[in-house]
Amino acid sequence: MRVVFLGTGSSTPTEDRWLPSVLVNVRGEYLLFDCGEGAQYRVLKAGLRVNKLVAILISHMHGDHLYGLPGLLESLEVWGRREPLHVIGPPGIAEYVEAALARKKLAYPIRVEEAVPGSVLERAHYRVLAVRVEHGIEAYAYALIEEDYPGKFDSAKAEALGVPPGPLRRRLLLGERVVLPDGRVVEPQEVVGPPRRGLKLVYSGDTRPCQSLVDVSSGADLLIHEATFSSEHEAEAQLSFHSTAAEAAEVASKSSVKLLVLTHFSGRYKSVDALLAEARERFRRSYAAEDMLAIELKRWEGDWLVALFTRQR
Ligand SMILES: [Zn+2]
Ligand SMILES: [Zn+2]
Repeated sequence: MRVVFLGTGSSTPTEDRWLPSVLVNVRGEYLLFDCGEGAQYRVLKAGLRVNKLVAILISHMHGDHLYGLPGLLESLEVWGRREPLHVIGPPGIAEYVEAALARKKLAYPIRVEEAVPGSVLERAHYRVLAVRVEHGIEAYAYALIEEDYPGKFDSAKAEALGVPPGPLRRRLLLGERVVLPDGRVVEPQEVVGPPRRGLKLVYSGDTRPCQSLVDVSSGADLLIHEATFSSEHEAEAQLSFHSTAAEAAEVASKSSVKLLVLTHFSGRYKSVDALLAEARERFRRSYAAEDMLAIELKRWEGDWLVALFTRQR
């Protein structure tokens, strides 16, 4: 799974931080969480293969998360997209897209769905759940849950047991017991290792720290949580239904996630070092996102997670 932060600011863009948008490549398909202004340029810069974009998921109807959508929809057409696209978001999203496209007929079909808590997207190897969060208006966090990976096939062991390459090995890999031509029975666990757990990513959108987010993030590999303010501005965070970096870290700690990445920083902070420091006091594995940061996530042996941080250029 690969995650690219296209924009990590809030409200209005700054030179360093554009508006919220996170691109995720899961099993070769792309999902876009929120679509701030300029997302279409950043999508291009990130080397997105347009036909692989399956869905755009909008967390809530505030402009900083949304105003990039009309531009991206039209750019996708210019770049040659013809496959259907899903747009998912809170009530009002259908009306918004309809208004944006009132004078334009796209060359590809688009399906707009208003989210309700629960499953909002089911694909062959992953699904996305929506949960309500607390932002003063209807707002959603999204949890992306990958199905488990099959265990490793031990070819040497299969060879030793006399299982010929071909359909018998495929059936064992699918977890079926097989009977060899000489009548011997081979159980799948003799040649296939235990399945490896799929990855789980949670994207908070804008929110106060809340229980629904703690619950849905339980055991997640990566929690992407907004951290608009530092603790110094906690009163402002409460008033505007946002979180401080310390509060985001507390959510990460309560839900025992493996990795926390903070984003959606207020433009008033020239540096977010102080926000990161206050988060790390409460949750050691905290990181601060920056525009075009890419994180490659991989499940290692057992339950270990490997995360590789690079810059997308
Ligand atoms: Zn926002
Ligand atoms: Zn908002």
